[in-house]
Amino acid sequence: MQLYQLTAHEMHDLLINKELSSEELNNSIFDRIEAVEDKIKAFVTITKESALERARSVDRQIQAGEKIGPLAGIPVAVKDNMCTKGVRTTASSKILSNFVPPYSATVVEKLEAAGSTIPGKTNLDEFAMGSSTENSAFFHTSNPWDIQRVPGGSSGGSAAAVCAGEAVVALGSDTGGSIRQPASFCGVVGLKPTYGAVSRYGLIAFASSLDQIGPFARDVTDCATLLEVISGHDDRDSTSASYKVPEFTASLINDVRGLKIGVPEEFMAKGIGPEVRAAVERAMSLYESMGAVVEYTTLPHTEYALPTYYIIAPAEASSNLARYDGVRYGFRAAEVVDVIDMFMKSRSQGFGTEVKRRIMLGTYALSAGYYDAYYLKALKVRTLIKQDFDRAFEKYDLLLSPTSPTPAFRFGEKIDDPLEMYLSDICTISVNLAGIPGISFSCGFVDNMPVGLQLMGKYFDEGTLLRAAYTFEQNTSYHKEFPKI
Ligand code: GLN
Repeated sequence: MQLYQLTAHEMHDLLINKELSSEELNNSIFDRIEAVEDKIKAFVTITKESALERARSVDRQIQAGEKIGPLAGIPVAVKDNMCTKGVRTTASSKILSNFVPPYSATVVEKLEAAGSTIPGKTNLDEFAMGSSTENSAFFHTSNPWDIQRVPGGSSGGSAAAVCAGEAVVALGSDTGGSIRQPASFCGVVGLKPTYGAVSRYGLIAFASSLDQIGPFARDVTDCATLLEVISGHDDRDSTSASYKVPEFTASLINDVRGLKIGVPEEFMAKGIGPEVRAAVERAMSLYESMGAVVEYTTLPHTEYALPTYYIIAPAEASSNLARYDGVRYGFRAAEVVDVIDMFMKSRSQGFGTEVKRRIMLGTYALSAGYYDAYYLKALKVRTLIKQDFDRAFEKYDLLLSPTSPTPAFRFGEKIDDPLEMYLSDICTISVNLAGIPGISFSCGFVDNMPVGLQLMGKYFDEGTLLRAAYTFEQNTSYHKEFPKI
């Protein structure tokens, strides 16, 4: 077992027992980055100096006998769409390739307050639009289980970094599946919190009514710990909820007896690969054998989720991305004749193909004459989708499904067919439309590639998600597998 393979809670124990310093620990992560980053390319920016500096300050605290929190001195990678004061933040877009934020996102401030070190900023699909990280303006990130395959997206860099031991845990953002789907492709744990549970202040907005920041980890315990650190109300985000953050680590109980788990039949229907379905069915049987009640149920409006999402998300994106005009910050085209020409050239040279596609879709859906037919209609269908979940949760504590229809696909396989690419989020998108929490963790392997299981929960009931995921983990060993790179 190598140092970089340890979980945050194992590292924490070594730190407080003074068997290891945070500096040694962080150096082992940077050695690992040195060894594999050429193949994986998880990071857009590596921040070694500031990470080691913070590590040394945590070491001084430990030496002075101060009590440290569970993530103090532990490397946490951050997706490059979250602002880091003084450190370039690009959203993997050319238009922000030279953007250095004057402030940090709330989640980053919370990590800093917790004493975490930040080894770097991770690659993503440009502005978080995509499911493979192939839409990054800079380079592709590889799946550590097979470098010919995608890590998923859009938080592919964070998922790959955690999977490969280039970070211990990481932050991602999830608008339609961008934490859960890459977690599933890389065989790690990823959780999308309830909408409003984690502040979005300083998250570069894609679709504001759907975006949420959440944790990646190699086990459920670390996932709960990181979630606890980043959750809570923030006055600077008007959509952040006022609620008391539960002690999520207290939910880590190895017991699902009496839990009622519904499996929406629409999420197991055509399009789900047979080997994925088989792995999910084995997980259903395991839950049953551990004392949960597992039965099929229905979310009848599921077939409308994808079209609804692809109206609402681009509509919000077209508005959010209007600010990138070459005026205040970011990329500005050279050689322009007037201000309109400057807007046009900066935007057409600064944005990539998928981002332009979304801006056009969204602008169309919001334009006069189409607004009612598309955008307003989509909002109504969104309510129907949410009501499906409300009804299901009257009967069940949790819902269970595959995270994605297939394991990780190869580079280039779907990039020329946007619809095919969009379909890889078919099981995750409804969760964002409803605003409920969802978690993905490994439930098996197909040809040496991980398969993810998704659990969905009631609003602000991350505790039950974590408990059920933890119980699964305690009774299986998939999370202990480490890729050979
Ligand atoms: N793949 C989906 C999209 O392209 C979801 C992305 C995300 O969750 N950020 O919009």
